[in-house]
Amino acid sequence: MNNTLFGMKKIICLWKLCLLIFLIVSCSDASRITPLRVVTELNIGESQEIELSNGEIIQLELLSIDVVRDSLRNAIREVNVKVSVDDEEITMHSGNYNLPVEMGKVQIDCPIVKEYYANSNSDRWGLSADARFRLWPEESALIQPGTFVYPVKQKWFASMTHSGNEPCFVDWGENLAVKDIYYHSGHDIGGAEGMDEIVSATDGLVVSARKDTLERYDDFPGDIRTDVVYIVDNRGWYYRYSHLDSIYPAIKPGVRVKMGQRIGLMGKQGGSGGWVHLHFDISNKENSTGTWGTEDAYAYVWEAYVRQYDPGLIAVARPHHLLWTGQETTLDGRKSKSLAGDIISYEWIFCDGTNADGPVQKKSYEKSGEYSEILKVTDSEGNVDYDFAVIQVYDRDKPDQTIPVMQPAYHPTLNIKPGDPVTFLVRTFNTAAGHEVWDFGDGSPQVTVKSETVDRRNYTAGRFAETVHAFSEPGHYVVRVERSDEAGLQAIAHLHVVVEE
Ligand SMILES: [Zn+2]
Repeated sequence: MNNTLFGMKKIICLWKLCLLIFLIVSCSDASRITPLRVVTELNIGESQEIELSNGEIIQLELLSIDVVRDSLRNAIREVNVKVSVDDEEITMHSGNYNLPVEMGKVQIDCPIVKEYYANSNSDRWGLSADARFRLWPEESALIQPGTFVYPVKQKWFASMTHSGNEPCFVDWGENLAVKDIYYHSGHDIGGAEGMDEIVSATDGLVVSARKDTLERYDDFPGDIRTDVVYIVDNRGWYYRYSHLDSIYPAIKPGVRVKMGQRIGLMGKQGGSGGWVHLHFDISNKENSTGTWGTEDAYAYVWEAYVRQYDPGLIAVARPHHLLWTGQETTLDGRKSKSLAGDIISYEWIFCDGTNADGPVQKKSYEKSGEYSEILKVTDSEGNVDYDFAVIQVYDRDKPDQTIPVMQPAYHPTLNIKPGDPVTFLVRTFNTAAGHEVWDFGDGSPQVTVKSETVDRRNYTAGRFAETVHAFSEPGHYVVRVERSDEAGLQAIAHLHVVVEE
C-alpha cells in the first residue's frame, strides 16, 4: 500500500466520522418532539410509580379488567378497566371512542388490554402485560398544539368510522363465519371518493408513497402498497394514510411535508373492503415488546378537530352494535361532549318511528338488517349535534343469511350554504336487488339511485351511486338513505348535514 492511498483512506475515515457526528447532531436537534403522554403496561394487581411528562410522580395500580363480548362472534364490545391513581379508584373504558379520563393529577386512558389477543387476527399492539395505559398531566394538551391537525378536510363523523379496536363492520358487514376478529386499532374515516382531501397530520418525512420507499427505511409497521403513504414525524411516529384514490405528485419518498399539506384524495384502493375511507394510523415501538404497535389516534384526532373547527358540541353514538334478532342492546350517547357548556338533552329517534329521551336506551329488533338510530344532543349554549348508531342484526334462525350493508357519504361537508350543490354518494354491499332511496329531510321529493353491484373479489371496481341536492334553508338536516335486498331485508343509513346562514 503506498502512502498516498493510505492518506486518502485516512481522509475518507475522517470524513465518515464527521458525517456520523453531523447525523447524530441533526437527529437530536430541537425539532425532535417528546410526546406529552407517558406509556406504561401493568398486570392485574401490579402497582407502579410513574413520572409524568411534567415531572410529577403518581402511583398507578391495575385492579381489574372486565370485558363484554357479543354472542354472535365472541368479539369484545366493551372493556371496563378498574385502576387506582394515588389511591383514588376509577373504572374507565378501553378504546371504542372513549377519550382519556381526568383523575387527580392525571389524564389517563387504556388503549389496549390483553383480552383482545384471545381472538384477534393479528397483533397490532405489541402488548406484553395485561393492559397498557397512557398518562398525561392534568390540564395538559393530549398532543402539542401546532404539531398535529385533523387529517381530512371534512366534518367530524361525516360518514362511517372504525376506531379504538372496534371490530370492522362497514362494507360487507361483520362476517359471522370468521371467528378471528379484525379489531381496528387504527382510525378509519369514511368519506367521498376522489373528493375528500387528505392532509398530513404532522410535519414529517415521506418514507413511502406509491410503493416506493426511502433507502435506509426497510422496516414498516404495515403494508407498502401503491395506495399508501407513510410519513415519519418528529416524534419518530409512523403515520399511515391508506386506500387513497390518488396521491399528489409532490408526495414522494424523501420529501419533507408540512402539517396540513395535502397528500391526496380519499378512495377505496388496496385492501379497503370496498368502502371509501382513509385508514389513518400511528405506529411506534414505544412499548414493552419493542415491536410495532398502534398509538391509538382517536384522542389526538378529536383534540385536533376541536382546535381547528371549534364545534361546540360533538354527539357520539358509536361504536356500532352486532345483534341477533330479538336480542337487546344498550345504546349509549354518553361519549358525546359539549365543549361550550353542558349537555342538557339526549334524544334518540328510532327506525321504528319511536323516540326516547335520555342518553342510555335499550333496543331490540325483530327483523335482520342494518339499522341506523339517530342520537340528537343539545347543550346549554344552544348547540345541536347528531350522530348515528349503526346496528347490524342477524337472524338467529338463519345465521348464514347476509344482510344488506350500506355506506353513505356526501361532499362537501363543511361551509355549506343555502343553494350549494352537495353530492350524495352511496354503495350497498351484499345485494344486487333494489335501489337506494334518499330522503334529504327538507321536505323535497325522495330520489332513487342504484349503486353498481359490488363484486366481492374486485371490490375496488365500480363507483358509488351519486346524486346532487341543494338545501334552500340553513339548518341541521338528517338525511336518510335505504335499500332492500332480495329477501326484503333493509339497510338504513343517515347523514347529518349542516347548512349555514
Ligand atoms: Zn382501516
